[in-house]
Amino acid sequence: MKKKTTTKTLEKNALRFEVKRGLNGLGLYSKVPLKRGARVIEYTGDHLTEEEANERGGQYLFDVSKKLTIDGSGRENLARYINHSCKPNCRAEINESETRVFIFARRKIEPGEELTYNYGKEFWTEFIKPKGCRCGACKSTA
Ligand SMILES: [Zn+2]
Repeated sequence: MKKKTTTKTLEKNALRFEVKRGLNGLGLYSKVPLKRGARVIEYTGDHLTEEEANERGGQYLFDVSKKLTIDGSGRENLARYINHSCKPNCRAEINESETRVFIFARRKIEPGEELTYNYGKEFWTEFIKPKGCRCGACKSTA
C-alpha cells in the first residue's frame, strides 16, 4: 500500500526544515522555533507487511506494529534525515490506531538546531553499535 504525502505538506515542511551536512553526515535542521511537545513532522513512506519489509530490507524501516512497517526511504520523507541521538531533542511516537508515526519535540528547539531522536535499542545494537555511536551525547563522553 502506497501512502502519498500531499504537496501542501511537502511545501510546508520545506519551509520549516532543511537537510544539511553536520558533524554526523546529513541531518535535518529546524528553521523555526519549536515548542516542547510540538508535533514536528510525520515519518512517511510505503506501508509494508512484516513479510514485505523483510524482503525489502534497508535502514529506513520503521516497525509500527506487528502488522505494519513503514519504509521511509523515499526522498519526500524528510524525517528520514533525522539522526539518532542517545540524548535527543525529539521522540518518535506511534498514533493510537498504529498507522502513522510522528516526531514530537521533547523540549524547546531553537532555529538552526539539528533534530534527533532515539532510534531504539534494536536499531542501535544492529546498525550503530558496530561502528560506534557518533551522536553528540556519546562523543562528549568518549
Ligand atoms: Zn550515542
